[in-house]
Amino acid sequence: MTLAATPTPRFDTFYKHDALSRVLFDYADAHPSLVSVQSIGKSHEGRDIWLAVVTNTATGPDTDKPAFWTDGNIHAAELTASTACLYYLHQLVTSYGVDPTITHLLDTRAIYICPRLNPDGAELALAERPRHIRSSTRRYPFEEDPVEGLTMEDIDGDGRILFMRIPDPHGAYKKCEADPRLMVARQPGEFGGEYYRLMPEGTLTQYDGLTVNVNKDVEGLDLNRNFPTGWRQEFEQVGAGPYPASEPEVRAMIDFIVKHPNIGAAISYHTHSGVILRPMGTQSDDDMIPEDLWTYRRFSDIGAKLTGYPAISIWHDFRYHPKEIITGTQDWVYEHLGALFWVVELWSPQKEAGINGYKWIDWYRDHPVEDDLKLLQWSDQHCEGAAHVDWKPFHHPQLGAVEIGGWDKMNFWRNPPPALREREVKPFPAWMNQIALSLPKLELLRAEVRALGTDTWRVRLAVANSGYLPAYISKRALQRKTVRGVIFEIHLPEGRPEVSLVSGKTRVEGPQLEGHGVKSTLQAFLPAREITADRAFTEWVVRAPRGTRLALSARADRAGAVRTEVTLD
Ligand SMILES: [Zn+2]
Repeated sequence: MTLAATPTPRFDTFYKHDALSRVLFDYADAHPSLVSVQSIGKSHEGRDIWLAVVTNTATGPDTDKPAFWTDGNIHAAELTASTACLYYLHQLVTSYGVDPTITHLLDTRAIYICPRLNPDGAELALAERPRHIRSSTRRYPFEEDPVEGLTMEDIDGDGRILFMRIPDPHGAYKKCEADPRLMVARQPGEFGGEYYRLMPEGTLTQYDGLTVNVNKDVEGLDLNRNFPTGWRQEFEQVGAGPYPASEPEVRAMIDFIVKHPNIGAAISYHTHSGVILRPMGTQSDDDMIPEDLWTYRRFSDIGAKLTGYPAISIWHDFRYHPKEIITGTQDWVYEHLGALFWVVELWSPQKEAGINGYKWIDWYRDHPVEDDLKLLQWSDQHCEGAAHVDWKPFHHPQLGAVEIGGWDKMNFWRNPPPALREREVKPFPAWMNQIALSLPKLELLRAEVRALGTDTWRVRLAVANSGYLPAYISKRALQRKTVRGVIFEIHLPEGRPEVSLVSGKTRVEGPQLEGHGVKSTLQAFLPAREITADRAFTEWVVRAPRGTRLALSARADRAGAVRTEVTLD
């Protein structure tokens, strides 16, 4: 049998749904023992939501192994998130058997990659006349088109949605003295200059000659607000949908993760800001479970070192309003399930332009003009002047003479320009590999038989967690009772009354297994006492004729399963 060739996708190109589907299936065709592709559900418009399952099936099925989940593109226009997932898939497949780290990773763990959670929204962002909506294409909360207001669209046919400026003595903006292309804020108390009113490029419906309000997209959902944890209605959390997990894309992800308790850690890719976000989103670090905070800090620091992205708490450093919280995937995966979770916001034009020390969200409220000038210089020198477009006169059908220009947020903010996309996603596989290799992994220590009499046997099954992390992953998981201890089972053959248990039960719940992660230093006040807390065993006494074969198994929800057989001899 000849296998198909490994695909060589371009990472400077965003794939539409059909092309992305083909690439994924090409990986599976070329490496059937390493990659399989399944649909975890259908989008609002009926597109398959693909998941690549990556593991060496010769060493066991994915469901018997600890697993790492990654997804991207829940937000429609954040297409580089898909690139990050596809890039990871490519690295895993092409490094297996070559790089010992990846080989060990895929022999012992499973990686679930969902490169495009929201295929409908991405398709619209990649359409002939692209629109950048927040998430799903389902109309929400209302079906109707607006009957008034400004609808954002490309009105001069250049394929971009920029800004319109109109001279107005009451305007909030003026030309920057250092570079008149740049529009900067008018200062407190300032008067007598040449001022402008700025608004997004678009057309006006039922314009009264005075009032301009920018319409929200009729596709008003934000799928990342539709998760069950902390879900709140529209008036409190915009785009949350009518009820938790009401949207098929979110439900597909939730269903899969719930049915796969082996998932111990996850990363969702978004754009943009150039930052790694960690829980919690709704509480300060002071209110977090300390052991979990320490774990988060340790793995976040590794991420920051490997990727150059700062790793920060959502609650402390990434809130859109200091008095408001938003909830999403991170809250569900960590707060409800107790699995580890990060959001990566890929790409930062500010960093690219050489702006240092800025605060991610605060910067968007206000920042020094020098930062704008640096961005303008970056646009001129590295983007052929396209990240900030020179103002051009245009006759607007409702407003008359306007000028169109300014920042092209669609093509330079939401995603990196094509040449920078691969570079931007490249550092992340190393971090994901290290997290995945730290997941708890159940291993067989011993399966022993001792004769207690002619037909009576003591059977002992001992297992250990060979991973860094404990089998329960987080204290949160223990608190929420989402993980059981290791489950030992002895499988007695059916229809053979001469084989029976004298003592022990056919299914026994053992303890939670710790990992080899060190909890305190060797200089700590008290020595560590539970030296072998990574191990557990159980014993059964069986009555059976000599030579009987018995199947034994052990499973820990997040550490995988081991199966073995013993001969009573
Ligand atoms: Zn996003």
